[in-house]
Amino acid sequence: MFLALHIILLQVVAFPLFMIFGPIIRIWRYISLESEFWLETSLKRHEKEVGKIVEQVKVWIQSGRGSKMTTARPGWKNISLTKTDKSKYFQVHIGLDRIITWKENEESITVEPGVIIGQLSRYLFKRGWTIPVVPELDSLSIGGLICGVGIESSSHKRGLFHETVLSYEVVLADGSVVTCSKDKESDLFHAMPGSFATIGFLTAVTIPIIPAKRFVKLNYRPASSIAGLNSLLSCPGLRLKPTMYEKRASDKCA
Ligand SMILES: Cc1cc2nc3c(=O)[nH]c(=O)nc-3n(C[C@H](O)[C@H](O)[C@H](O)COP(=O)(O)OP(=O)(O)OC[C@H]3O[C@@H](n4cnc5c(N)ncnc54)[C@H](O)[C@@H]3O)c2cc1C
Repeated sequence: MFLALHIILLQVVAFPLFMIFGPIIRIWRYISLESEFWLETSLKRHEKEVGKIVEQVKVWIQSGRGSKMTTARPGWKNISLTKTDKSKYFQVHIGLDRIITWKENEESITVEPGVIIGQLSRYLFKRGWTIPVVPELDSLSIGGLICGVGIESSSHKRGLFHETVLSYEVVLADGSVVTCSKDKESDLFHAMPGSFATIGFLTAVTIPIIPAKRFVKLNYRPASSIAGLNSLLSCPGLRLKPTMYEKRASDKCA
């Protein structure tokens, strides 16, 4: 009886729902991840959008800095488990979710912080490139991965997500727009990662790109104990030169 009820429910409710919402989800997925229709922007347009952020910061300053500023990004868009009630903060709208420039010869890409990793990785992969660290959840934003810290398996070679970044463009609390890198405004450059929007609004990020081949060769090195795992991980070749690791793995590290 219980089983029959389940089967009826599945056929009468779940199946029709799947038939209706399945294609809608697929279309939405295509539009948000695969389509490049709205994905690119010009530097001029980007600057115009950054100007709108500066204007909002100036309004905050003129209003006497009564409450703290925050991004107006709605909770349903971020994947963090803790949701903040932003109603008591001064919300700054950051409509920046496009790719600004892609320079194959300079091996770098400049993107706005609202671009999500699923869009960026697909965009680059179609062109034979990738960024060094590609977190696997499509909906993580570039801004969230820097200000909230990101990591993925390639991080053991390349570092944390932000450790690959070349430069940031930031709007500070006085309304100034600053571009920082390792050599320029380096304090700000090193302070931005993990700052959780406490230092400024990130408005653009330049990330290096590397050639992406269609397949990745993986070598499995099983370890049956913690000591064995530590020995594998401490193998100097593992971190920097896989070929050296290959050699050592056969004698010392395997
Ligand atoms: C289920 C789950 C799985 C996860 N898996 C992974 C994973 O595989 N790899 C990984 O690296 N991480 C993972 N994370 C962690 C995730 O990367 C962080 O939570 C990340 O910050 C979320 O990105 P988001 O785009 O949702 O950012 P948000 O939560 O929107 O932002 C994170 C922080 O950055 C700030 N911020 C965002 N944009 C800007 C901006 N433009 N200017 C200034 N500050 C800004 C926000 O204010 C906030 O403080 C996971 C988290 C969860 C909950």
